[in-house]
Amino acid sequence: MSKYDVAIIGAGMSGLAAGIRLAHYGRRVVILDRHRRIGGMNSWYRRAGREFDTGLHAMTNFSPLGARGAPLGKLLRQLRLRYQELDLVEQNFSVIRFPQAELRFSNHPQELADSIGALFPGQVDGWLELRNRIREFPSLVLDDLPPLSARAVLAEHLSEPLLREMLLCPLMYYGNAREHDMDFAQFCVMFQSVFEQGLCRPRGGIRPLLQRLASRYQEAGGELRLGSGVRALHLHDQEMRGIELDSGESLEAEAVLSSAGYPETMALCQPEQRSGQLEIEAETSPMSFVEAIFVCKKPMPSKIGGDPTIVFHSDTMPFRYHCPQGLVEPSSKVICLPDNFAAPDPDWRERGESRIRLTRIASYQQWAKLDKAEYGQAKKETRDNMLRDLQAWFGGAVEEPVAEDLFTPRTIEKYTGRRRGAVYGSPIKRRQGRTPIDNLFICGTDQGFHGITGAMLSGVSMANHHFLR
Ligand SMILES: Cc1cc2nc3c(=O)[nH]c(=O)nc-3n(C[C@H](O)[C@H](O)[C@H](O)COP(=O)(O)OP(=O)(O)OC[C@H]3O[C@@H](n4cnc5c(N)ncnc54)[C@H](O)[C@@H]3O)c2cc1C
Repeated sequence: MSKYDVAIIGAGMSGLAAGIRLAHYGRRVVILDRHRRIGGMNSWYRRAGREFDTGLHAMTNFSPLGARGAPLGKLLRQLRLRYQELDLVEQNFSVIRFPQAELRFSNHPQELADSIGALFPGQVDGWLELRNRIREFPSLVLDDLPPLSARAVLAEHLSEPLLREMLLCPLMYYGNAREHDMDFAQFCVMFQSVFEQGLCRPRGGIRPLLQRLASRYQEAGGELRLGSGVRALHLHDQEMRGIELDSGESLEAEAVLSSAGYPETMALCQPEQRSGQLEIEAETSPMSFVEAIFVCKKPMPSKIGGDPTIVFHSDTMPFRYHCPQGLVEPSSKVICLPDNFAAPDPDWRERGESRIRLTRIASYQQWAKLDKAEYGQAKKETRDNMLRDLQAWFGGAVEEPVAEDLFTPRTIEKYTGRRRGAVYGSPIKRRQGRTPIDNLFICGTDQGFHGITGAMLSGVSMANHHFLR
């Protein structure tokens, strides 16, 4: 029977990053993933002769080469990767669009400050106070912080409700597991990642970055076992004693670090030893999404002026961030134009095609109850509505796509194992990465950091905190 110091569940961003740290320091480490491809929620696939990213809109936490004290630079040093290996390209600019107003932001925080100053001149002092409060807030500590409502804190500093909603819209869409409100610590992390540092994209999509992470891990001596799902974790006296794979094979490890999600990980423990089913239910977020990807022959003309990279759009004020009654929440959307970064992906430029990704909030429960025929029909109707919506939005300039795809909360659950397709994991974060089992830890989304960069930071910090001190 194989014996490891640490077995990591999941070859996504957090599992790979944790694995690199542990292998680099000589730990006997294995990464186990049920899938045959690395990447988890942010992977890639081929369809109609083209390579698609499963999730990538943008990476947060951009910093230029050599920026002192920047989280991205610190992360890369921990992973022993050179900045140039990521080949990052920056966003042009992005837009938050409500019926009454439009704000712009880019990787220069002053652009958002100027946009706020122009639209909401009476809010400038409050905006500066809010930024200071966010900078001073200990949002990155590993201690569990008491819950604090982001809406309440925003209202202390900004008297203009429209501005508050406009700031919440992108940060909730890109990193909030809760309905209606957001924990202020999470708000601070997302605010700094998106508005202060900014958005970028690895040129050529997520695959080169993932492959670099996997080869860095293997060069350091780590073992990667794809197609190796963990079926159960065997416990004795609050200790994990054995790992059972889907194949029936057993593995032994001193400890397990799981990136599968907290409720998903606890569900692997034997029923009599794990927390109750009710607790597992309460720990699964109701927030999920549908996304349509359309590939068109011509570059997209913009209705906004310039070539925005991402548009966060709400038809309603206040912005509605909740699990909808129907399949899809119709009042808001995110439009991502992956070809509107500072430099195009070489493959797509050669093809002369451009891509649009349209994301809306969706209800897992509504999608889950459909039978096969109903599900196919609902996907088709959703696709048609989304294309019509884009045509209206771009003033009829979106032609019939030459390739396309649409995923639902069911797709996310199927391919990532995330219960109910909950992209941002449990609404309850465990900053310490601890579970009730002494030698079972979690990293990634449910530890508290979202997104590609956040997941890698989480993997690194959990590996350091629990195994390398
Ligand atoms: C559609 C979509 C779009 C997104 N867009 C962006 C974006 O533009 N920018 C951004 O920064 N972030 C984005 N995200 C979020 C980002 O992808 C995630 O936050 C990040 O990838 C999480 O990484 P992780 O390692 O924590 O978890 P995961 O990626 O979920 O990795 C967990 C891994 O564990 C494996 N696993 C689960 N259970 C088992 C088991 N029992 N046995 C073995 N293996 C198991 C899974 O197969 C998976 O590979 C998006 C996510 C989705 C779904």
